Amino acid sequence: MKNKNKALFETAKRYIPGGVNSPVRAFKAVGCDPVFIRKAKGAHLFGEDGRMYIDYISSWGPMILGHSCEVVNEAVERHLLDGISYGLPSRVEVELAKTIVEAYPGIDEVRMVNSGTEATMSAIRVARGFTGRDKIVKFEGCYHGHSDGLLVSSGSGALTFGLPTSPGVPDDIVKNTLVAPYNDLARLAQLVDANPGQIACVIVEPVCGNMGVVLPDAGFLEGLRSLCTEKGIVLIFDEVITGFRLGYHGAAGVFGVTPDMACFGKIIGGGFPVGAYGGRREIMECVSPAGSVYQAGTLSGNPLAMHAGKAMLDYLKHQPAVYDVIEEKAAYLERGMRAILEEYHLPFSLVRAGSLMTVFFCERVPHRYDDVQKADLKKYSQYFRGMLDRGVMLAPSQFEAMFVSCALTKNDMDVTLQAFREVMKEMA
Ligand code: PLP
Repeated sequence: MKNKNKALFETAKRYIPGGVNSPVRAFKAVGCDPVFIRKAKGAHLFGEDGRMYIDYISSWGPMILGHSCEVVNEAVERHLLDGISYGLPSRVEVELAKTIVEAYPGIDEVRMVNSGTEATMSAIRVARGFTGRDKIVKFEGCYHGHSDGLLVSSGSGALTFGLPTSPGVPDDIVKNTLVAPYNDLARLAQLVDANPGQIACVIVEPVCGNMGVVLPDAGFLEGLRSLCTEKGIVLIFDEVITGFRLGYHGAAGVFGVTPDMACFGKIIGGGFPVGAYGGRREIMECVSPAGSVYQAGTLSGNPLAMHAGKAMLDYLKHQPAVYDVIEEKAAYLERGMRAILEEYHLPFSLVRAGSLMTVFFCERVPHRYDDVQKADLKKYSQYFRGMLDRGVMLAPSQFEAMFVSCALTKNDMDVTLQAFREVMKEMA
């Protein structure tokens, strides 16, 4: 069976760059072959290698309720035979937009797209159109998808592969992307002062998940809010990971800071390729055809994807206890892992925000990109491979989060902690 997986990867490499359709999936950073997945149910992945894995990737976020969950399956089955794509508006798009607008603080309108990349790219275009300014600010180590202007000092796969700024992105485009260290309001204020009246927007992951989990320092998000308000800069929260995960009202709800625009993905599609960007009405009125900032999509608002997303969000809205359950599960894992790490005297820091968590193999809790760079990547790879051998699927990179899903059972978590103990003992 292991050979079957290997053979599939060899074939994949002949037809797909690196054998995968998104770089981190190649497991290159952790020095082993990827596991090809045959099917998934609940918190479990079933590989082409014949093995079952306890899943902490959760499709990088969407699977908050676990794989193949009844809620989404039922909605998809119910609507599958109604036609898969119309290229014309449908009722469920309106319903999903209304659900998002009602859930998220400060946004009046939302436009559906097909990925998180499209959401952030489009939000930035709208912010530029609205302000008439060209420059944008992003933070080092935050990842906002792979569009040209945002692939600068990026996290996630770009950071994993040592390509935070990608070849193929013209300098002419990058010159409009200014970069500040995460959690550094003073540096941001300097950038703003040095580019008076030129900055259209500041885009930020309110909790960063793409250099591993890095929390906003106390006052950071509030500081962004007041600086942006003062300077007429559009504040964009990229909630592609955090939206509907940290809580039903996103990071904005958790931290009590309201952005001018927000981007979503992952959970809002229930596992289908969906993204969305929204904002205050006066900003969103710039979007074509209401306004003149052009943005479009053949498959945007795909009815089946909308039904999946709507079913997911309705469930989260009507079962708010989900967020308590997932918090308890993540806290249980955190407590167990922390105790084991301390017992074996390993230098580590464990950072958690709700169901997002990262074990960094460095002593100092990271606050920014420079800090995560100090993590021992060899140790992370050893950790990853040890856990994989024992049937636990973690993110194959130090610079990603562990996503805890509601579907994890006590047994899954105890098996995980036992594996963790064995691996840490080996690593100590
Ligand atoms: N923004 C954030 C915060 C993300 O984590 C990601 C992807 O992981 C994106 C944007 C891009 O989303 P997508 O991969 O759907 O294009």
